[in-house]
Amino acid sequence: MSLRAFRSALGLSLYDNPLPNGDRWIMQRLTNVVHEYYEGWFDVLYRMQARYRCKSGHDWTSSWTMILFRFYRNEKKHFGLIRLKRFGQRCAKCKDDREYYTGSCTYEEVWYITQCVLFHILQKCYEKRPIRDLDVLPYIIGIQNVPSNKPGGMAHQKEYCEACAANYCKEMFKELNKKH
Ligand SMILES: [Zn+2]
Ligand SMILES: [Zn+2]
Repeated sequence: MSLRAFRSALGLSLYDNPLPNGDRWIMQRLTNVVHEYYEGWFDVLYRMQARYRCKSGHDWTSSWTMILFRFYRNEKKHFGLIRLKRFGQRCAKCKDDREYYTGSCTYEEVWYITQCVLFHILQKCYEKRPIRDLDVLPYIIGIQNVPSNKPGGMAHQKEYCEACAANYCKEMFKELNKKH
């Protein structure tokens, strides 16, 4: 799930269904989660399953792979910005490897997540509502198009997780997805 894959999915989606008012949206890397937050930005935190491989060749899968999208619309300038942070994980087998590895997933999953982000943008930045506004329709995903994640497997290993270190993992996800 490279930045390029997300950019490509965003480009294709916007080509088919541009966002309102001729706004141009671009995607950038979010480097500092804590310090790059400004008034008027929205956060969306996604949980997904991804596969990992360290440089020594160890493989693992985690269903607590977090991606943070932070977006903002400048109405006057007809411009929007999406910043994304793909939280990595360290290898639990290589004790002295401090590197956070980014997980990989299929292009279908990247596409699906991108549609979800655009759906959020329509709601947060344009006050569009499902059912009422037709602009939202292309971004409502049929259940048959949702990639099937298979959560489970081993327990989440907090000490190897970059999202946990930044406080953007289990607790934050559960807090944001509380049923009211
Ligand atoms: Zn390793
Ligand atoms: Zn975590």
